[in-house]
Amino acid sequence: MKRPIVKYGAPILRAKGRAVTAVNEQIRALAADMLETMHAANGVGLAAQQVGEALQLTVLDVSEVEDRPSTLKLSGIEVDPRVAMPLVLLNPEIRLHGETLPGTEGCLSFPEITAEIDRAFSVTVKAEGLDGEFFQIEASGLLARALQHEVDHLNGILFIDRMSSVAKASLSSRLKRLQKETQQR
Ligand code: ZN
Repeated sequence: MKRPIVKYGAPILRAKGRAVTAVNEQIRALAADMLETMHAANGVGLAAQQVGEALQLTVLDVSEVEDRPSTLKLSGIEVDPRVAMPLVLLNPEIRLHGETLPGTEGCLSFPEITAEIDRAFSVTVKAEGLDGEFFQIEASGLLARALQHEVDHLNGILFIDRMSSVAKASLSSRLKRLQKETQQR
């Protein structure tokens, strides 16, 4: 079932997600809803906060993006990122590696707003899957960027917090308007 996406201005986007302690029917249903919601919105990632649940749960899918490559190793084995998608991550822990690069980012909670954000080129993420097993991801490129963006969401951090002050200032009236629209609902 597709769920409404929570927009900027809603307090839940600032909530740190609680750890998922058991993979039960409710968590599986939430993950399925999040995948459906993300795909319907043509997003590459969605965090639980964005559908109104403050939990350490995120879904990602970069397989439809042709012009921004990714690499992926799953538990040490290099795989084609497209065939490994979508990813469902519970309780992810991220480590950043290498140089920081600017790149364009958007967010489904900020319709029509994009900005250049500095992110680490590669990351290592340890997470649990819906089968309850731990696995490790090593990613670079777009997938590494998306993982950093989503793990930020799980901790109540938004991409506007990572923008340069100049970029944020130039968006300030649009951000205020969006916040007001959300709070008037
Ligand atoms: Zn986002």
